Amino acid sequence: MSFSEHVEQLALEKAKIMYSFMGDEVPTLFNRKKWKGKIIGWAIQDQDFRARLLRFVDVLPTLKTDSAVYKLFQEYFSDVDAIPPELRIAVDRLSRRTDLDRVVPTILKRALDSLAAQFIAGRTVADALSTLHAFRTQGLAASLDIVGEEVLSDDEAGHYVNRYLEVMNVLGPAARSWQDMPLLDADDRGPIPRLDVSLKVTSFYSQLDPVDWDGSILSTSKNLAPIFRAAQEQGVSVTIDMEQYYLKDVTIEIFKALLLDHPDFEYPGIVLQTYLPETAADFTHLAEWARKHDRRFGVRLVKGAYWDYETVVNPRKGWPIPVFLEKEKTDLHYEQLTKVVLDNIDIIRPAFASHNVRSLSYAMAVAEDAGLPKNALEFQMIYGMAEPVRKAVQKMGYRVRAYIPTGELIPGMAFLIRRLLENTFSESFLKRSFFDNTGIELVHSPQLDESFVQPPASVGFMNEPVTDFSRAQNRSAMYDALATVEENLGNNYPLIIQDREIFTDETTLSINPARPEQLVGRVSRANRDQAREAVDSAREAFVAWKKTSPQERADYLFRAAAEMRKRRFKLAALEILEVGKTWKDADGDIAEAIDYLEYYGREMIRLGQATMPGAYPGEENLYFYEPLGVGLVISPWNFPIAIPTGMVSAALVTGNTVIFKPSGLSSVCGWHLAEIFKTVGLPPGVLQFVPGPGSETGEYLVSHPEVDFVSFTGSREVGLHIVSVAGKTEPHQKGVKRVIAETGGKNAIIVDETADLDEAVRGVLDSALEYQGQKCSACSRVIVVDSVYEDFALRLQRSMNSLRIGPTDKPWNFFGPVVDQISAQKIQKYIETGIKEGNALLAKPGPENGFFIGPHLFADLPLHSSLVREEIFGPVLVLLRAPTLESALCMANDSRYALTGGVFSRSPQNIQKVIADFDVGNLYVNRKITGALVGRQPFGGFRMSGIGYKAGGPNYLIQFMHDRSVSENTLRKGFAPSL
Ligand code: NAD
Repeated sequence: MSFSEHVEQLALEKAKIMYSFMGDEVPTLFNRKKWKGKIIGWAIQDQDFRARLLRFVDVLPTLKTDSAVYKLFQEYFSDVDAIPPELRIAVDRLSRRTDLDRVVPTILKRALDSLAAQFIAGRTVADALSTLHAFRTQGLAASLDIVGEEVLSDDEAGHYVNRYLEVMNVLGPAARSWQDMPLLDADDRGPIPRLDVSLKVTSFYSQLDPVDWDGSILSTSKNLAPIFRAAQEQGVSVTIDMEQYYLKDVTIEIFKALLLDHPDFEYPGIVLQTYLPETAADFTHLAEWARKHDRRFGVRLVKGAYWDYETVVNPRKGWPIPVFLEKEKTDLHYEQLTKVVLDNIDIIRPAFASHNVRSLSYAMAVAEDAGLPKNALEFQMIYGMAEPVRKAVQKMGYRVRAYIPTGELIPGMAFLIRRLLENTFSESFLKRSFFDNTGIELVHSPQLDESFVQPPASVGFMNEPVTDFSRAQNRSAMYDALATVEENLGNNYPLIIQDREIFTDETTLSINPARPEQLVGRVSRANRDQAREAVDSAREAFVAWKKTSPQERADYLFRAAAEMRKRRFKLAALEILEVGKTWKDADGDIAEAIDYLEYYGREMIRLGQATMPGAYPGEENLYFYEPLGVGLVISPWNFPIAIPTGMVSAALVTGNTVIFKPSGLSSVCGWHLAEIFKTVGLPPGVLQFVPGPGSETGEYLVSHPEVDFVSFTGSREVGLHIVSVAGKTEPHQKGVKRVIAETGGKNAIIVDETADLDEAVRGVLDSALEYQGQKCSACSRVIVVDSVYEDFALRLQRSMNSLRIGPTDKPWNFFGPVVDQISAQKIQKYIETGIKEGNALLAKPGPENGFFIGPHLFADLPLHSSLVREEIFGPVLVLLRAPTLESALCMANDSRYALTGGVFSRSPQNIQKVIADFDVGNLYVNRKITGALVGRQPFGGFRMSGIGYKAGGPNYLIQFMHDRSVSENTLRKGFAPSL
């Protein structure tokens, strides 16, 4: 009999034994006689109810008052159709009571506590101890986990270290005093720890991000060191949990670093997820590494709990989905890895974590076939789930370890929600087994081919994926690019007029704001004559360019996009050095630039088709667009490639010729953009590169009568000035200049009492401090509703304080310099005013050399303060307190600007209210307010924030054109051809 036939036969025998031991017992969660089973049942049968339930459970523990609980309950479930009939009867019965607003919250909170208690074993270490004890008397081993995941500050990471140390120091000695239980306390090689702890690396370092590969490994393993030492002293084993795919590789490296740092620690372990095809290679790598270093470690093989997350988040970034899409493939992979893990038992302590009878019996069969004793492996199951399965495996004589989370409910919500998802997932083994009552027939070998399918890519415009810096090749590409760019700094850059490169005597020096002594480039400055020449050649080139077809013009954009992709890392590296962007921000800027080229190219092909409105006999109507003429593009420095690419490409593709004046602070980036268009063969004169001081070159060009339109992005002051200058007409001027202007903002985020504070703090932090607050979309006011103000303020202050500041060519600095000295001085003035008028909750200094201003957080400012009203364009965030959502909205709207805004809330009604009443061009709900994507979140504001249609949206190109209408009478002497 072959290996597989033998194992199949054995597995079936094991499964039959398990089923016979399980009898008719049903897990608590599927027992439809109990209320929890009923709720799980409704959620399985009704997807809408499932979604509402999960969302409601998610927000419930955060709510501080009964009235908030009652209000939210009504919001989520008042729509009667959404409630299962049985629940409706209960609600109807209840609704006769007059004290509903008190009774309902009491019932709900009790229900939540009981649901949480199903999965989370108490809040304190003492609670955990009694659960462990109870389990041990039932013959169960334990792995303890303190609930909670990603931390937002060093203080929060410190809290986790202390909690775990408490667990080790209290439970370790307690465990040693327990009576010996041979099956639990020894494997085939001898004694093993009586207690295991599981932990997530994201709880131990707030700046953990694979973009900072070495720093993440070093700091996380350093923060975990006391826990490993305590584990060693107390004889406890430690298992590192696996979280999102993005963190997989770095987690494996942290694990290896910990093993090297603790050479005598015998009981480290790691989790491997079989829904990832990559796990097979990871295991091989780890096994080879362990052999080389003569180490043995535990592997907990799981299927993987982040499936929903991975299938949503990765495509959103344009990254491949890293997990198998079919459950059977994960199951098959589980079996393959079971064999591989057991084949390496000399260096692995194997643990199979699953509730699936087939997977468990398969592992038993492979082990038996290999002649391994039962105690050489163990099975692990989650506290509160699949009790009959657990008991059956125990009765078969195997060691079973329960995974027991403990801790507070709010940090435990993510765990709880994952368990609810799992139990109500249509393909889950438990659901099919105990809800659909499918028996032994479920137990078959997973029968799928191993190919790894990606969902079909959609056709049409797709956003350019940002770079995945968790991949080693991308990190080294960026390091290489930085080195190359740095070697070539200090060059001279010419004007480009009519395809001629002109080097001028007068130049603008562009310097690295993080190291002002480093010259990035010397850029020529156009004087009036050269500016006039540029206008003349643009006028001349317009005649032919206007006649090129939209497709041909779009093709130039597509070629420029391809060229940009080739130079992607170098362009990003240049931004890092010229304007102080972080790796991710710089990379995002290039991706956005590529998006504009691809999107506007396609948009022009769409708009280039003339249409025939109306269809009347004897009449032919045509409607089509034509370019405006010569355009002037004036760009800011803060998105040094993306913004000018957007404005220049829009003007070009619509058939205009362009004079491009970049900001003096980012003119080397500007030159590279012009050079890319030159490389792709844009005809001479179609695009002129004319850098120079805004108040001279810029002003002259704005007032030039042969310029037909100005496309400007920059500050409100300059924007308004340009509008007034452009509005003046000269005697021979043929038309009035059109001005398209995208200007500043004083953007606010509202946080209400139902907000998820983890999300809100992270969202506000990113919105306010990415690129040092120098984004027009940045959050500069956060308005928090009274009841959560203190909690929010403290967590935000701590997380802002945890950011590492320094030159951003080093990927461990997530916070860099502001763009120049003038900016730094201007921001500093606001800070001084803030200190006088309010309360500085945080005033973090930056390094001395370079234009560094650390993050600042101000509270208790009068509403008329310049910090509350004016755009600061730096890392200064104002915290405002509002008694209610309505007053928060009033404050948010009390601004001359209307660019971006956001709200963090889990109240459907509040969200609707904010959508209806918050006057901003781009509103974001439960996410950061920066990072609008071309085609997905068209971007732009109104009031003092801009004139014109949104960039990256369907109306943007239209403003660079006239629309024309032609109507021909085709009737001749009573003869109409179309009849
Ligand atoms: P800025 O207004 O100082 O300069 C913008 C551009 O205008 C530069 O190229 C500058 O040389 C030029 N300029 C200055 N004076 C001029 C004049 N008299 N005539 C013609 N051109 C002149 O802005 P900045 O500091 O480069 O950028 C930051 C500002 O841009 C912030 O206010 C920010 O909110 C805004 N911004 C808005 C958006 C948006 O989409 N709404 C995007 C990015 C930046």
